[in-house]
Amino acid sequence: MTQRKNDGAWGRWHMLQNALYVVPGFGVGALVIFGRLSLAIGAPIVVLFVGVGIALDAIRFNTYRCRKCGSRLAAPPKWWAARSGKRFTFYCPDCDIIWETNFYYPDASD
Ligand SMILES: [Zn+2]
Repeated sequence: MTQRKNDGAWGRWHMLQNALYVVPGFGVGALVIFGRLSLAIGAPIVVLFVGVGIALDAIRFNTYRCRKCGSRLAAPPKWWAARSGKRFTFYCPDCDIIWETNFYYPDASD
């Protein structure tokens, strides 16, 4: 029988990693807005942070490993609208475990 287990650490780690590039990205954006940094210098830096963030997200979603056996598991489906409000889960067929993260698809009604 398929077990469901919680992996809350994945969501926390995900948010922490997001903060590591979102906060400096906003910081640089604020410097440009308040005239402390020229747009020519600030814009590429913000684009770089966003690019790194998107790349890290893609890596994280595609390199989840089963907490029990260590197998690399398939990323959750990406058709977000159909899954709005639902948890991100990763299924390990070897262990028959659904790993539930504390991360939810965005609510499409927003
Ligand atoms: Zn497993």
